[in-house]
Amino acid sequence: MDNVKPAVLAAKNLTVKIEEKTILAHVNISFTPARRTAIIGPNGAGKSTLLKVLAGLNHRYEGKVLLDGEDTRKLGRKSFARRLAILPQGLTVPADVTVSELVDYGRFPYRGILTAGDPKRDREAVEQALTKTHLKSYASQRVMTLSGGERQRAFIAMALAQEPEILLLDEPTTYLDIGHQLEVMNIIEELNRNESMTIIMVLHDINHALQYSDEIVVIKDHGIYRHGTPEEILTVDLLAKVFGVEADVFVNSNGIRVLSPISLAEGEV
Ligand code: ADP
Ligand code: MG
Repeated sequence: MDNVKPAVLAAKNLTVKIEEKTILAHVNISFTPARRTAIIGPNGAGKSTLLKVLAGLNHRYEGKVLLDGEDTRKLGRKSFARRLAILPQGLTVPADVTVSELVDYGRFPYRGILTAGDPKRDREAVEQALTKTHLKSYASQRVMTLSGGERQRAFIAMALAQEPEILLLDEPTTYLDIGHQLEVMNIIEELNRNESMTIIMVLHDINHALQYSDEIVVIKDHGIYRHGTPEEILTVDLLAKVFGVEADVFVNSNGIRVLSPISLAEGEV
């Protein structure tokens, strides 16, 4: 994979309407390969909708989603799933499934209806996914019995078993305590650094977006409001304009800028 040019995921003139309501209008964006892009914006802005459309989970859109310039509607579901995986929000766990069985579901793009695929390769991929998510010792445990942090890592492992070039994650740290939030962010960072995996993640924590991404996309008013580096985008001014929050900024002992909300900003958002 090292000498293969990483794929570019892009949306062209993307419009999404749900029950007559415009969610996204004429969105044009290209995600830089082998980088981590964080998508931020207020609740209801359309972040999850954008992610689902990009991943082919929602086909009710106008415009195009392109992978290396090719319309993803024309790619087969399995060939697309070998290149791009998504961890949506709110996945439920089928009863009685063990961690390794759950992760093995991620191998579906490599199997036919009548063919078993390559069982040895499947086992290797599951093993590797468990290793990368620190879950090897949990392989035979039932997913239902895992803690929140372990369960989220199991779902990430399932996505990794697809062996994608591009990984989409929707608020992967929601409901986790701060230690487990950082564990998930570190796993994502390693995938990007060690495998040049392209990461596109919706984050609700502005400071995680600052610390763990190379590019920021801000969704507001049905479209891309800003796209740039965390330094350019994540400012006190942006927090006021996009989230209606007045914030302080300071630099922590690691030299990383931290935005600290103080109060709701005066006036209209
Ligand atoms: P975000 O992830 O940024 O919080 P979403 O993409 O989930 O926002 O939702 C964007 C908007 O689309 C919201 O106003 C939401 O109510 C609406 N929406 C999303 N899915 C549906 C649906 N299935 N039916 C009706 N409205 C929906
Ligand atoms: Mg959402």
